[in-house]
Amino acid sequence: MALRFYNTLTQSVEPFSSSDGKTVRMYTCGPTVYNYVHIGNLRTFAFQDILRRWLHRRGYQLNHVMNITDVEDKIIRNAAVENKSLDEYTAKYIDAFLEDTATLRLQRPERLVKATEHIPEMAAAIERLESSGYTYPSEGSVYFRIANFPGYGKLSHNDFSGIRAGARVDVDEYDKADARDFVLWKARKNGEPYWDTPLGPGRPGWHIECSVMAMEYLGETLDIHAGGVDLIFPHHENEIAQSEALTGKPFARFWLHSEHLNVEAQKMSKSAGNFFTLRDLLAQGHTPEAIRYLLISVPYRKKLNFTMDGLQAAGTSIERLRNFQLRLNTAKFPEGLNEKVEDRTRQAVERFEESLDDDLNTAEALAAMFEYLRDTNSAMDADEFRAGNVSAAKGLLAQFDEIMDVLRPSDAQSQLSEAEIETSIEARSAAKKARDFGRADEIRDQLLQKGIILEDTKDGVRWKRK
Ligand SMILES: [Zn+2]
Repeated sequence: MALRFYNTLTQSVEPFSSSDGKTVRMYTCGPTVYNYVHIGNLRTFAFQDILRRWLHRRGYQLNHVMNITDVEDKIIRNAAVENKSLDEYTAKYIDAFLEDTATLRLQRPERLVKATEHIPEMAAAIERLESSGYTYPSEGSVYFRIANFPGYGKLSHNDFSGIRAGARVDVDEYDKADARDFVLWKARKNGEPYWDTPLGPGRPGWHIECSVMAMEYLGETLDIHAGGVDLIFPHHENEIAQSEALTGKPFARFWLHSEHLNVEAQKMSKSAGNFFTLRDLLAQGHTPEAIRYLLISVPYRKKLNFTMDGLQAAGTSIERLRNFQLRLNTAKFPEGLNEKVEDRTRQAVERFEESLDDDLNTAEALAAMFEYLRDTNSAMDADEFRAGNVSAAKGLLAQFDEIMDVLRPSDAQSQLSEAEIETSIEARSAAKKARDFGRADEIRDQLLQKGIILEDTKDGVRWKRK
């Protein structure tokens, strides 16, 4: 079956292809840079990384835009407390975001765009909404009149028809005349940063930022818009209202949303003491690979229960994968090719691909890999796995890691263990004894790449870390 995703807009799983069949034009809501990102944010970004990688594997080019919200109430408040300009204040957290996402091996979107660098475009969009009757002013601010957009509620599947104009719904922290109407342009307040535009002095609301930047770089109809479920309402609902009021065209064909993350079955919160940034977990000695593995191990539409036991288990799973890779790279297998083993490898490739085509079912994809490891290790123990089977097995592992990206150790803590090094040295000695010097040199080089230096002495082989 073909690649398919659950589309929040239609509430069904639909086959996916990009509108031009070549490039996926995708927009994802990025960080609000007033703090370090926490693991709940990172779950969403990790889902988007798997999405990117899988679309790429399925032959698409990516044109992925992510915004950086660098003007917003908390940012303004915190910058004022620290006596810094917005730029000075947010630079630190933008750098931290880039560093943290790189540590987790999240591919960088093709474009990261800052709200503060697109203010004139936002003002122009609001003026166009004004001239087509979607807005009203109030005390220097401009609001979007939801009653004029009949499709309001179609993404969140909320029924707004029973709500009288003026009825209060807690949709946002913004001040508004009609509880459902949201702010497009916020009037200048004393002591706050502002921009002079034809709308008057002020700053944009959060929702208009995403609509304007998405359409500026990706066109009027995106292939995919993604984010966390908490953004469906009001943020994404409001993005649709603004964008479609501007263009009269569907804003995005597919809406993908990832579920929440809990920590030890509790909602993550600072007051409950279970609030973690990536930096907190690294400081506790956890590896980026184990954190990445745990974040991607649960399919994105299921709630993820992030636990310390889960992190340990993720580390163990990665070790099993690495041991298998080491065995493939260093063991001396009997000559020949076993067709049954080749079939088993092909079957694993198919199941891995089918799982990810199925709305990115990462849990199934991992299960396919670990069942393959179990079967193949047994075949190796029984000498059924032959030298001719190595290439396909390595191919599967490479395909797996192109998406999951957990095999490469990030740092000293995940270096080869002594047992792994000894196994490699034994394999090298065996190759030498069999006068297979090419193989012996290959093993030496592989160890060197992992920072292990071998010395041949008359008493045998010694090794040390670089
Ligand atoms: Zn957004």
